[in-house]
Amino acid sequence: EPLITIDDIGRKYVIGAEVIHALKSVSLTINKGEFVALMGPSGSGKSTLMNILGCLDTPTKGKYVLNNIDVSHMTDNDLAEVRNKEIGFVFQTFNLLPRNSALDNVALPLVYSGVNKENREKRAKAALENVGLGHRIDHKPNELSGGQRQRVAVARALINNPSIILADEPTGNLDTKTSVEIMGLLEDIHAKGNTIILVTHEEDIALHAHRIVRMRDGLIEKDYANENIAKVE
Ligand code: ADP
Ligand code: ADP
Repeated sequence: EPLITIDDIGRKYVIGAEVIHALKSVSLTINKGEFVALMGPSGSGKSTLMNILGCLDTPTKGKYVLNNIDVSHMTDNDLAEVRNKEIGFVFQTFNLLPRNSALDNVALPLVYSGVNKENREKRAKAALENVGLGHRIDHKPNELSGGQRQRVAVARALINNPSIILADEPTGNLDTKTSVEIMGLLEDIHAKGNTIILVTHEEDIALHAHRIVRMRDGLIEKDYANENIAKVE
């Protein structure tokens, strides 16, 4: 059953007299439970596509249906609501609030969902335990290592039970050993039935995904099953 259906979407930017076709024509179907790596050279349209997938932006042509919701022409407010419910984001730079504890960072999306404080804290604590940080819930981001910060971000991404996890270069700021640990965590999350879309320019990292989509010049150049899936012990 498709979770994401993208049909002939385009995204153009108009700057004065110049028109940039960041996405020309992209069609893509992603089923529930898939683990997809999105690759491609700089400027090929990965960020533009991720922004649309993440409901941060809408296409200028074509149709995007996420979890049976047509989000192609939504207003910003409606899009924000879909985003909070359906999408968990993980970023290269972690994007944690620096003055807040790990617990408060993870609980934040539940504020937007209208969950009461007691339940927010209970759920955030359980989410942090699930990523191996039960002993760090009161720590602030600068009191945590890079890998621990990314674990907090992963816990935050999962807290609303989103239908997809969008991870944009999640290992981009981590050393090799820590990158492998974070990929192991994403593998575990995938094994529990979650759908993950990962942007990376590192071939070794992409090999943890089960499907690889390669972009070039605003088009999908290649879309194939990964026959050499890398696994973290
Ligand atoms: P990638 O993430 O693969 O590097 P992008 O999606 O960022 O690619 O960019 C695709 C193309 O769209 C590039 O030519 C880029 O310069 C252009 N582009 C991206 N965002 C904007 C924007 N906000 N305004 C104008 N052009 C943009
Ligand atoms: P609106 O555009 O309706 O005013 P907001 O900008 O407050 O909504 O939030 C839009 C969405 O972005 C929210 O649904 C929430 O999930 C997310 N969001 C906003 N601020 C933060 C933040 N500081 N940290 C994490 N997520 C946030």
